[in-house]
Amino acid sequence: MSKVFHRQLDSPLPTAVGGDGPYIIDGNGKRYLDASCGAAVSCLGHSNQFVVDAIKHQLDAIPFAHTGFFTSEPAEELAEFLINQAPDNLKHVYFVSGGSEANETALKLARQYWVECGRPQKKFFISRQQSYHGNTLGALAVGDSVKRRRIYEPLLMNVHNIAPCYAYRHQQVDETEYEYGQRVANELETKILEVGSENIIGFIAEPVVGATLGCVPAVEGYFKRIREICDTHQILLILDEIMCGMGRTGSLFTCEQEHISGDIVTIAKGLGAGYQPIGAMLAADFIYAAVKHGSGDFEHGHTYLGHASACAGALAVQKFIQREGLLAKVRDKSAYLKQLLHSIFSTHPNVGDIRGRGFFMALELVQDKASKQTFNPALKLNASIKAHAMKHGLLCYVGGGTADGINGDHVMLAPAFICEDKHIEEAVEKLHLAVNDALAQVH
Ligand code: PLP
Repeated sequence: MSKVFHRQLDSPLPTAVGGDGPYIIDGNGKRYLDASCGAAVSCLGHSNQFVVDAIKHQLDAIPFAHTGFFTSEPAEELAEFLINQAPDNLKHVYFVSGGSEANETALKLARQYWVECGRPQKKFFISRQQSYHGNTLGALAVGDSVKRRRIYEPLLMNVHNIAPCYAYRHQQVDETEYEYGQRVANELETKILEVGSENIIGFIAEPVVGATLGCVPAVEGYFKRIREICDTHQILLILDEIMCGMGRTGSLFTCEQEHISGDIVTIAKGLGAGYQPIGAMLAADFIYAAVKHGSGDFEHGHTYLGHASACAGALAVQKFIQREGLLAKVRDKSAYLKQLLHSIFSTHPNVGDIRGRGFFMALELVQDKASKQTFNPALKLNASIKAHAMKHGLLCYVGGGTADGINGDHVMLAPAFICEDKHIEEAVEKLHLAVNDALAQVH
């Protein structure tokens, strides 16, 4: 019996022993097409020698030196690389070990910024319903993932929520997509006026919502209005690009597609593609300057921040993506992925919506298409799709509570950027089998 405290306590896991491009091979030699990159992580697949060599090179030089004493060449070079590609206002990068840490860092820097500005009464965050920003207590508090929060509710700081921008379920028949976007963006202003902007630190949101809603981009104009409201009321905008960023939607930073930037942007997952644990927070110059010329130190830190081997791995990932033109490939091949998903699922009686951007696509499952009635969550439809997919040798990322936090099911495909047409075809065919197998059990 395994002594590992696994994520799931009830079901034994296969052992991953090898990787071959977008495939993972288990201890029995079974091959799984990783069509979701785990949880939108492994964007270069599982056997990229260029990245492995770069990490080995750093391990030979020096694996780690505590950042209280030293900086490292890969951290400096990776920061330079990211800032050169990032929206113009972002000038400084703080490296951590994952997504939750990146968001904790963002929340704390945002709070410290206002303290430096002589406004210590600013103490609340606003976020969106059905968002996910991580599992540490601060990140969990600003998220609104009902199931993940439930047990810890009494420990979580008080956060104010507004509705997500989720057109499939909430756009009304008498409004255009644009009008819908403006209406829900304006909820932010209403909330700010209710709580008082003098009490609010900032607003945090994912440009394309991942785990909780299943690849839901905002409608056109939404984020422009959000940016405007944050500026008008002097609250910081924190964009969580941990899942949707780093090329997943076809550009390195998803906010570019919305023609805005955040005052703080967080990234992880695709940054290091899983070759090493890494995340990062990018901050605007005015925030950095307030700390530098104020108290002089950001009151934060972790042992492994700016880890040299992790930065070396991520730098190699990003150089490989750039050298091979993989973002253009994502933009190009996403049209094929979309087309195949539509050709198979748009007439499927239980697929209510097909959505997403780039290599970040999802299906929302419904019991009835006309009414958008969800399946009973007790049926665990999404978990069943995942299990059937694994039987067919396919990895896809599923979620529940899509519609309202409790009800609803979705399944995401987030293929590796190296995928060819044949992999996309295999992914969609096997997903079709898995969805039908799972539905056959619940009907
Ligand atoms: N933010 C978003 C949008 C995420 O999707 C996730 C993870 O899925 C996180 C934060 C937390 O990242 P991590 O699991 O690396 O702590």
